Amino acid sequence: MTVKTVVFHALETGPALTVLGAVHGNERCGPEAIRRLIGDVEDGTVALSRGSLQLMPVVNPKAYAQNVRFVERNLNRQLYPKDEKVHYEDHLDPIVCGLLDRTDVLLDLHSFASPGGPFIFLSGKNPDELAYAKSLGVSDFVYGWAEAYGGGDSKESQGTTEYARTRGALAVTLECGQHLNADAADVGYRAILMALAHFDMLEPSCPAASGLGQPAAVADLRCVRMKSVFYRDEGASFCKPWRHFDAVAKGEAIARYANGEKLVAPEDGFIVLPKEAAATGGEWFYFGTATAYPE
Ligand SMILES: [Zn+2]
Repeated sequence: MTVKTVVFHALETGPALTVLGAVHGNERCGPEAIRRLIGDVEDGTVALSRGSLQLMPVVNPKAYAQNVRFVERNLNRQLYPKDEKVHYEDHLDPIVCGLLDRTDVLLDLHSFASPGGPFIFLSGKNPDELAYAKSLGVSDFVYGWAEAYGGGDSKESQGTTEYARTRGALAVTLECGQHLNADAADVGYRAILMALAHFDMLEPSCPAASGLGQPAAVADLRCVRMKSVFYRDEGASFCKPWRHFDAVAKGEAIARYANGEKLVAPEDGFIVLPKEAAATGGEWFYFGTATAYPE
């Protein structure tokens, strides 16, 4: 088995932007977006003005071939080269990390199981990274996830973005929408172009640059700060088929327990990544409240 990396170099020096797809093998939008971009660079629709663009359409090829999240180990946790390789994914660590070692900016394209549209996980307070995340044409953001649920800075929770940040890169995970959303690959493709434009790497005269448009206006941004996680009790069910980022008012019924009692929203907020069919005791949904985009 081999892993493919495509690198385009402009003749002017500049930042190295890395785009990853299918770190999770069942998330198909990243590979589709990246392959489209490769074709567009090759035919001149997209032109680089400076720097280099490192593309890895399928980071986990075996999981991608099987259309599963991972084969033996989640590649987006414990991501670092290991002396002793035990799992299949351990062999991918040095390849991905080697690429990220030579990167200034990372865009990692994912998708998710809940019904809903694209959003970005924000972490920390690096103003350059926050400006970059805001430039990608996406208007929904989840803030404080890693701080609340990621286990801090430990290597256990270290994925692509966390590893890239340890190497000084600006890093963003873009969730392009539900796995099967018709526009998920378009969201990813557009974000790659927006990232190139944000770092002045996109040749303004190329055809792709002219139709690119502007990032979402600040007034349209929705930023949710994570507050709590709910686990599913035996026999409990949602009161509505919740979609990711649905708004709920304080006191509104979210779910019903087997004994008929209702679980209501503790305050005005948003449902984050609801999983109707979560196993008993499994993560069911998250709850967050509106917050200003961090500056
Ligand atoms: Zn993923």
